[in-house]
Amino acid sequence: DRLVGSLADGEDQAVEAALRPKDLDEFVGQERVREQLDLVLRAARQRGATADHVLLSGAPGLGKTTLSMIIAAEMGAPIRITSGPAIQHAGDLAAILSSLTEGEVLFLDEIHRMSRPAEEMLYMAMEDFRVDVIVGKGPGATAIPLELPPFTLVGATTRAGLLPPPLRDRFGFTGHMEFYAPAELQRVIHRSARLLDVEIEGEGAAEIAGRSRGTPRIANRLLRRVRDYAQVKADGVVTREIAAQALNVYEVDGRGLDRLDRAVLTALLGLFGGGPVGLSTLAVAVGEERETVEEVAEPFLVREGLLARTPRGRVATPAAWAHLGMVPPQQAAG
Ligand code: ATP
Repeated sequence: DRLVGSLADGEDQAVEAALRPKDLDEFVGQERVREQLDLVLRAARQRGATADHVLLSGAPGLGKTTLSMIIAAEMGAPIRITSGPAIQHAGDLAAILSSLTEGEVLFLDEIHRMSRPAEEMLYMAMEDFRVDVIVGKGPGATAIPLELPPFTLVGATTRAGLLPPPLRDRFGFTGHMEFYAPAELQRVIHRSARLLDVEIEGEGAAEIAGRSRGTPRIANRLLRRVRDYAQVKADGVVTREIAAQALNVYEVDGRGLDRLDRAVLTALLGLFGGGPVGLSTLAVAVGEERETVEEVAEPFLVREGLLARTPRGRVATPAAWAHLGMVPPQQAAG
């Protein structure tokens, strides 16, 4: 339920369908992946063939689901959406695979979280469009081979390195999704504003983009909160000032840090002189669980170059002091 969390919440799910770009031209940014994918899909279309399996890696909210839908749309194929954690048994996967139609796109989100037996079944399905369905148990068990129509698997994972090499090798193409540059996020925000009928100025979009952590999902979410504020407190137009005021109310600062991020940094600087300090101590100081600090706050702080993890503990960087407007002790003394 963090405003700057990158996973989809209920409200996101409700509005995201309306905000999804429908084809590669509408998809903002990710130039390299777009160009590569365009070639893969064009070539397959020219050959009248099913597209190669595609692996998309990148953080949540960067557009992997959107891109998988675009792949299906560009190929004129239907799409089936499921996820690794939803496939606990090989039988679950067999049921899905055997019901695919020719050319269909199967989107498997969080593919690295599939069970081992399902994963092994997937190897064969991807390579030979065939699965062995095991009937019975123990010595009497028999494998019944089942032919599958050619299909395109689109796998999504937060990191390609999490996949076992045999699985990774079976994808014809891997697209690495990067965090979006502020200018790209501005385009996403303008596009969404148009679809949501929100009047927004260029500087208003820039203000939201700067606080969106390089992630379109967060940009769209912040836009909705700013829209509320603009409507209630002003004339509905999103200017830079309105955007900044709104996001200050929601405690998302100019760089996209929220209250938790700032609490961690403030403790690190104010109580521990910028570190090094152990993770557990830091967590106690901010009154949070160790895991929350490590998994929720730190990744973004590290990415932003505000905090470093060292063998001796957590250390603040000069940028952290500057961001909080504080002076490091040695500098203050000198
Ligand atoms: P998750 O892994 O959490 O499912 P995801 O990477 O699949 O995330 P999407 O659900 O595809 O992310 O995208 C989240 C939202 O961001 C969608 O509403 C989508 O409209 C928007 N979005 C993502 N990428 C782009 C883009 N390149 N251009 C415009 N909008 C985008």
